[in-house]
Amino acid sequence: MINVTKTFLPPQEEYHKYLEQIWDSNQIANGGKLWYELQAKLKEYLESPDLILTANGTLSLQIALKVLAGNGEVITTPFSYVATTAAIVWENCKPVFVDIHPEYLTIDETKIEAAITERTTAILATHVFGNPCNVEEIDRIAKKHGLKVIYDAAHCFGVKYKGQSIFNFGDVSTCSFHATKIFHTGEGGAMFCKDPQLFKKLFYSHNFGHKGATEFYGLGINAKMSELQAAMGLAVLPYVPKLLEARREITEGYNERLNFSSIATMTLRKSTAWNYSYYPILLDNEKQLFKVKKALEDNYIFPRRYFYPALNTLKYVEITKCEVSEKSSNNILCLPLSYDMTLSQLDVMCQIINS
Ligand SMILES: *Cc1c(COP(=O)(O)O)cnc(C)c1O
Repeated sequence: MINVTKTFLPPQEEYHKYLEQIWDSNQIANGGKLWYELQAKLKEYLESPDLILTANGTLSLQIALKVLAGNGEVITTPFSYVATTAAIVWENCKPVFVDIHPEYLTIDETKIEAAITERTTAILATHVFGNPCNVEEIDRIAKKHGLKVIYDAAHCFGVKYKGQSIFNFGDVSTCSFHATKIFHTGEGGAMFCKDPQLFKKLFYSHNFGHKGATEFYGLGINAKMSELQAAMGLAVLPYVPKLLEARREITEGYNERLNFSSIATMTLRKSTAWNYSYYPILLDNEKQLFKVKKALEDNYIFPRRYFYPALNTLKYVEITKCEVSEKSSNNILCLPLSYDMTLSQLDVMCQIINS
């Protein structure tokens, strides 16, 4: 059986070494030694701005929205994981969908300005499959209209754009360290932020608003990452370069084997050092997609329909037409991509897809 992804688990004894430190200190939550260590190591490895480790990627989005978007309209992409839209609705903001670019699959920045009203407070865009949005243009539009920018960078571990960490862009970038992502802590996530004042607000917001034991800066909730999660992260992190290298090889293997006469793929934005997080293919139509999916499943190979359905068609949003996104959602399939796949497995899969 081959799944769309496979969680990398570090050698147990390496995880246990970190657990021993937890037992020694008897601290399992609230910013213990491992939490600080992981934060510092990630900042160094990613060459990123300061970050706050959190319980998951969705809470990171929710806190960023709570702090930056008020209860306003949030311009967002219909082509992302459901968490992107759910976080907006959950925080009592209104998602306003702007269609995507057909090749990059990220929000079409040329259509953003037409969607801005006097109630718009923020833009929440996703770097789809680690492919950066047009961050310069989004930044220009946001500054012109006084809007905040949040990037759902859940897929972006290790991605660089124009030589810098992709987490450098926007007011806040969020990441997910869920078990299905390249770097993981089981469940987990982070908020990245360059501005020290905003960073402080995000920090206290993720820890009940605490200012010491008995005082509060303001409203907060609990989104803290525990020492157990940090221990997993510390045990996984040393393997990330090897995991990325394996994913690069698999990606190139697909590129060499697939017949692209009736398959399209995502175009990577120029100046991107990518992380090979997904291998999406776009079929001509949904009928083709079902055919390919079934042929693979008959051989115990399980691709996923990321991202389906288009988020502008969810029951709890005001439905707007986004033609490119709906077409992409209907026709896209993410092929299995994990560190331990072999070239002979690729041969089999690509034969099935090509035929
Ligand atoms: C995984 C993912 C999330 C949610 O992250 P969790 O850590 O699972 O809460 C949000 N947005 C995107 C685009 C994702 O892929």
